[in-house]
Amino acid sequence: MNAASLRAAQLDFFQAPAPRMTVDCSDEQLDLGSYDRVVIALSGGKDSIAQVCAYLERGGDPKKMEFWHHIVDGQEVSKLFDWPCTNGYCKAVAAFFKAPIYFTWKVGGFEGEMLRENALTQPIRFEAPQPDGSIIIKQTGGKGGKISTRRKFPQVSADCSVRWCSSYLKIDNARTALRNQERFNNSKTLFLCGERAEEALSPQEFLQYRAGTLLASQVKGRAAYPRFQVDDSDARNSSMRRHIDRWRPVHGWSEVEIWAILERWRINPHPCYRLGWGRCSCAACIFNGADEFASLRLINPKQFNALVGHEVDFDRTMKRTIALNALADLGTPFVMKQADIDAAMSEEWYELIELAPGEWELPAGAFSRGGGPS
Ligand code: SF4
Repeated sequence: MNAASLRAAQLDFFQAPAPRMTVDCSDEQLDLGSYDRVVIALSGGKDSIAQVCAYLERGGDPKKMEFWHHIVDGQEVSKLFDWPCTNGYCKAVAAFFKAPIYFTWKVGGFEGEMLRENALTQPIRFEAPQPDGSIIIKQTGGKGGKISTRRKFPQVSADCSVRWCSSYLKIDNARTALRNQERFNNSKTLFLCGERAEEALSPQEFLQYRAGTLLASQVKGRAAYPRFQVDDSDARNSSMRRHIDRWRPVHGWSEVEIWAILERWRINPHPCYRLGWGRCSCAACIFNGADEFASLRLINPKQFNALVGHEVDFDRTMKRTIALNALADLGTPFVMKQADIDAAMSEEWYELIELAPGEWELPAGAFSRGGGPS
């Protein structure tokens, strides 16, 4: 079966009247009402927004929601990896759902960590709301660990110990912010994240996974993540009584269902999907393929050339076996509309999040299955 017929089979198999319920919706007798707050990891990608819609469609209280976004480039000077629009887009999404958003980042961001030389990793900063309504920036870390040198791009690998960007710029941020705010003590928090099993499986394996016929030995990567678990920041049995559970509301969903719920809510997707990217992550994600880098070189040559400059400086390429310029030469830039380029390149978000009836359309990048962590 080729990819197109598998997708058609998926569409056929999962076609259901709105609202589409999925295999996940009975998760472990999850009692959403029992939580004091719901923290939602918002990357700006389709899955991170679909999980919000899923939470609300399941009767979740919108007043309990708060969004967290990890700024991969940090808040200082670097603009090496991310889309210029992403912070503004996430703020606008949070405003649409009428919930606060708090940002976290590593000092110096991706570039600072990548350029680390005989030094400790930098601290993590995060926005922390206070009882009087103000927001302060807290900082932790940066004093312990090992003095070491990176001076190379993270490896393109599923293994987070060598693909350090995910852990150092996102996972650690969430963990740090959960563990270092007193407001999480003596209360129950549900932490939502949007990882999906389909990202780790071939289309055929995913169909089997959904049918319950995939062998346990074939369930790998994100597919093996539990839909619901005690979060590793939990300390419910300590004197802090910090109860934190993690829920992946769209873990078993197909991409068809993700786009379907965004269509139902008429959510304007991040412009990178309209440009042709299949995944919304860093614009310069190490998993990007030739077409993505050919497109990035075209629409943001400054960013692309900065990456190339680091390859020269490190005498080691991002992909290890081919230089970025050579890779981009092998690709074909997406057919991109100027309006979408402008939206993606703007640090100010100026489009609507909820589109007018009839305006929503599937973006060009949908179902293109760009590479990414599995
Ligand atoms: S999106 Fe790609 S480059 Fe960015 S942190 Fe994740 S794996 Fe690393």
